[in-house]
Amino acid sequence: MISNQNSKDSINQKYSCKNVPIDKEYRSRWSKTGTHRDHDIWMKGSHIIHGTTVGVDFELCNGCMKCVSVCPTKVFAPYLHNKSRIVDPVRESECILCLACELVCPTEALHVVRSGGSEETLDSLLG
Ligand code: SF4
Ligand code: SF4
Repeated sequence: MISNQNSKDSINQKYSCKNVPIDKEYRSRWSKTGTHRDHDIWMKGSHIIHGTTVGVDFELCNGCMKCVSVCPTKVFAPYLHNKSRIVDPVRESECILCLACELVCPTEALHVVRSGGSEETLDSLLG
């Protein structure tokens, strides 16, 4: 079985991950300010996260589209924000909580809620 942490570490080294990841506690600490395409918008000051089941930090996303490629249920779509192409979790209700997007994201811009089967689902996708 592949170690998820080892995989993440090696991806972070390869893509020079930023040191400050998405705030994993944003659902309890940030303010919910509205909705967009059926997902919530969260804010702290001018900092924005879209999504609750699948959160995308708009400051950290660099638009690499790795999450778009890896997601088995097509949760993400390209989105223009402040003239930059990033991603938006437009179909977060389709998320199967597999965590694959978190694993590949080079900037740790994503956080997915956990379920009892998340790690097993990721392992099955990794083969
Ligand atoms: S956890 Fe899996 S299904 Fe959910 S958005 Fe990420 S890659 Fe897609
Ligand atoms: S993998 Fe991360 S940095 Fe790349 S588009 Fe998705 S959320 Fe943004």
